[in-house]
Amino acid sequence: MLEFSVRTPSPVGESAAGTSSPLPSAADGTGHAGDILAALDRPMRTVAELRAHLDALDTLAPRALEDAFDLAVRLEHEARAAALPDLERRARLVQASVLGRRGETAESGRIAREVNRWATEHDHRYLRARSHRQLATFYRQLGDPSAALEHALRGIEYLDDTAPVLVRGYHLATLAGALAQTASFDQARQRYAEAERIAEAAGDVRLRLVVLNNLAYMEHEAGEPHRALATAERMAEVAQATGIALDSFSLDTLARTRMRLGRYAEAEQTLRAVVEAADVLATTEVDGYAECLLTLAEIQRLRGATEQARATLDECLRICDRADLRGTRMRAWGERAELYAALGCFEDAYAQYKVFHAEATAVYNAERDARARILQAVFETDEARRSSRHYRDLALRDPLTGLFNRRYVDSQLPVLLGKAANNGAPLSIALVDIDHFKRINDTYSHDAGDQVLRTFSELLVAGLDDRSGSAGAATTGAFAARLGGEEFLLVLPGLDAAAAEARLDELHESIRSYPWQPMTGSLPVTASIGVATVPTAGASQSALLRRADHNLYIAKRSGRDRTVADR
Ligand code: GH3
Ligand code: MG
Ligand code: MG
Repeated sequence: MLEFSVRTPSPVGESAAGTSSPLPSAADGTGHAGDILAALDRPMRTVAELRAHLDALDTLAPRALEDAFDLAVRLEHEARAAALPDLERRARLVQASVLGRRGETAESGRIAREVNRWATEHDHRYLRARSHRQLATFYRQLGDPSAALEHALRGIEYLDDTAPVLVRGYHLATLAGALAQTASFDQARQRYAEAERIAEAAGDVRLRLVVLNNLAYMEHEAGEPHRALATAERMAEVAQATGIALDSFSLDTLARTRMRLGRYAEAEQTLRAVVEAADVLATTEVDGYAECLLTLAEIQRLRGATEQARATLDECLRICDRADLRGTRMRAWGERAELYAALGCFEDAYAQYKVFHAEATAVYNAERDARARILQAVFETDEARRSSRHYRDLALRDPLTGLFNRRYVDSQLPVLLGKAANNGAPLSIALVDIDHFKRINDTYSHDAGDQVLRTFSELLVAGLDDRSGSAGAATTGAFAARLGGEEFLLVLPGLDAAAAEARLDELHESIRSYPWQPMTGSLPVTASIGVATVPTAGASQSALLRRADHNLYIAKRSGRDRTVADR
């Protein structure tokens, strides 16, 4: 059977439009989703509130998510305005879920990838977990079960104990779905059971119904009709006990499992509610409604009610045409061929089968093309971003040494100075000038001089880190730049004058002890360094550089190979 046209158990939480989604109905009478959304729909104030709202959205039943889309957009804006990039991305992931359900697979995948990349760069565990789950759904919709499984596993891996327990339940259900799709049925059963336990303990009927429906469908597909029926019956019991009406997808599952074991009357009875609610369903769950009609036609054929089967099938095809449900229509044509055969009209059956077969091939090709287009759309932005970052990076680097250049200093130093001023933290800069460098050029060659500059630069970068191991010497944001010729700048946030001097003494030592001999023969390589520190040297970049230059001049005048700082 075909991936997109088959009525697969949907990835829990997010399924593409066009595939069925076994989701509990919004019109279930519990008011649960409505209450949450109503509570959320008021002006936000604190960060804690924002966070709590997002927690609620992350554990909202999938079907209710559709209504939460606008709210998620608003939360995103609020998080951005409050400079909370992680919450901003959590809100975007909620939107990605909805977009995936609407069938906007490419956009949903793009968001999931962006958030995943951000979360990885910032080592944000929850967003890593959540975005991996979203990617699992994306790949499942795309028909790539192994990629889906990989992301589902990572989604669980990054989930820690601080995540809401219901979120873990949804993650487990997603993992179970991915395992089912790769035919790891036992493993899937285990995860479904765990997810159901969580749902039960948390009193979340919706998650429980989602789990039971997906599990029942898996058993059905796995050729375990008795298990499938037992699970579907349990789903029906839970729904009845809690007063929740099953949606068309769940009813379809229940009917199919009953049909499979020859319980035609019961199966038909199950779908009666769907047919009776046709007006509502044809607008809100049109795909589920069409699927139910198809199942009903099959039941009617199997129990010999061929005229009814024919009428049901006509209605099904009418809905498929109107709502452009290509996959269901294709299978309805297959069912029509079966019906003709059951009636003994073998010529018609054969003609109809040919139509079915041609359409199946067309659907398959269309899906393959769509898959390629979607993957390209999702990945080409990656590629564009990578290359623009590469070029931007090049513009900020010195080509000889690979160190940052003056342009980078001019953009970055004011930022770091601003941060230091805000935090009341010290920041030191060090102007580093190689001693008698001209002699190396003149004695050996310009190439030898270049080699010295490159090696010297590596020592500078290594010298940014605190190698004495003393704790508390915070140098986050430290960098080395080449200002020109044999003159360099080290920027050392968090270091006061004394700490900077200590760090630079280590640097002198590493320069002195480096085996330069093969490059410079008998000529030693040393450097003079002038340090300036905020807050003492005035806050502006130019004042700071002037002060450092002054100290460098003193270092040169007083014999070179030394550091001069303000004490
Ligand atoms: P001091 O100890 O006073 O700093 O003496 P110095 O010789 O290091 O200083 P001076 O400014 O007199 O000479 C710097 C030399 O660096 C002159 C220039 O030719 C050389 N230079 C500048 N850029 C490069 C480069 O990219 N490669 C090489 N090999 N040499 C360079
Ligand atoms: Mg020099
Ligand atoms: Mg110089």
